[in-house]
Amino acid sequence: MRQNGSMVRRRAQGGTLVLGGGFAGAYVARLLGERGCTIVSPQNSMLYTPLLPEAASGTLEPRHVVVPLRQMCPHAEVVIGRATTLDIDERAVSAETLAGPAEISYERLVVALGAVTRIFPVPGLVEHGRGFKDLADAIALRNHVLQRLDAAAAGGPASELGFVFVGAGYAGVEALAELHDLVQSALRYYPSLEHTPQRWVLVDAAPTILPDIPSRLGVYASRNLKERGIEIHVGETLASFDGEAAVLSGGARVPAQTLVWTTGVKASPLLGSFGLPLDDRGRVRVDGTLRVAGREDIWALGDCAAVPNTRTPGRTDPPTCQHALRQARCLARNLTGAPEPYGYRMLGQVATLGRFKGIADVLGVHLSGFPGWFVARSYHLYALPLLSRRLRVVTDWTTALFFPRDIAELSSLGHPEGFEE
Ligand SMILES: Cc1cc2nc3c(=O)[nH]c(=O)nc-3n(C[C@H](O)[C@H](O)[C@H](O)COP(=O)(O)OP(=O)(O)OC[C@H]3O[C@@H](n4cnc5c(N)ncnc54)[C@H](O)[C@@H]3O)c2cc1C
Repeated sequence: MRQNGSMVRRRAQGGTLVLGGGFAGAYVARLLGERGCTIVSPQNSMLYTPLLPEAASGTLEPRHVVVPLRQMCPHAEVVIGRATTLDIDERAVSAETLAGPAEISYERLVVALGAVTRIFPVPGLVEHGRGFKDLADAIALRNHVLQRLDAAAAGGPASELGFVFVGAGYAGVEALAELHDLVQSALRYYPSLEHTPQRWVLVDAAPTILPDIPSRLGVYASRNLKERGIEIHVGETLASFDGEAAVLSGGARVPAQTLVWTTGVKASPLLGSFGLPLDDRGRVRVDGTLRVAGREDIWALGDCAAVPNTRTPGRTDPPTCQHALRQARCLARNLTGAPEPYGYRMLGQVATLGRFKGIADVLGVHLSGFPGWFVARSYHLYALPLLSRRLRVVTDWTTALFFPRDIAELSSLGHPEGFEE
């Protein structure tokens, strides 16, 4: 490591620099094993996103849905910071790290910067809407929802118990189902709200919810949500939200202080300044071996890359963990041996819809209700890295079977009041 003024210059460990410690980047680093690498990541842990809705509902402890990078990738050097610029000719990345600006040179660069929430110019959305992309979003949403119950109990307006979710893909449907369960469970501690009406509304521009799963499971999910009193508005969009009410394109006005926006993602905007070839969706173009088109030394994968798949000719991979994981396996092999093309056929999909309710499509076998829920949980337990994390999750799940949901609201965490004069 060399110091130049205030800039720290260093070489990537083992010559490989991985940008992003999410699903794709963390798995590449883990699978490189003793060859080592340097990971640049703003967080010191990888988020296991499929369990995020359960962290929001309090079934799982927030710390248990993340996996510390230093434990997951014991041979990697972890630099906490954000990549800012890429100098392709000099083979160096600049980053803002906890120790100040740094320049890290590499022989092989792996770009795994993921995606950000895709938003549309809807009046009031940026000012008043909430995302559901990371742990901070999930816990902030949980605290906000519990605060709405306290505000309603204190005599607040009807909008306190109005909850609108826009985007009926996995993230939106699972988040809504889990938080709905949380509120129904919490209400036993709010006797004054027993007869106060609630409104839970799911909105999507597509003609059905969960359009990517087999229609039988989608129909089950839709029926289950409706039976719980959740209103589903498909074929509609959000027209505006002012923090007190959401107006839908069909004209409906829903009094609500909570609007969760989960309409999908777009590749990290930082890529636009990297000088790499991008597709029309802003994703890095890679060849079949995950190497960036026209570059010998740069590779990309995960949500930030347009990855061709030999098992789905003509289509690039969708932004999912299971694809990011398979791409990471292929890339780790390609970085250490003769590059081979990537191919993966999706084996199935799972989703939970609250306690004891779920859907699973495994090798064409469709399960719903309790069997779907059980298979979904079993799959996540199998897929979660590190035995210690799995045990923590099993302990949380087991405890949750015997007790009502935890309704502790912790919005003051991270904001200590400091000393009083
Ligand atoms: C709520 C939610 C639920 C989901 N549920 C499922 C599911 O059930 N099943 C499924 O298959 N998929 C699911 N997904 C999708 C899945 O999480 C993504 O496809 C997967 O995480 C992609 O991995 P990635 O590494 O490309 O991106 P990410 O996991 O998002 O990782 C990108 C990383 O890059 C880091 N980064 C960003 N900018 C910088 C920078 N400048 N410098 C350094 N690092 C940076 C980010 O902090 C992040 O850690 C879900 C996604 C969400 C949001």
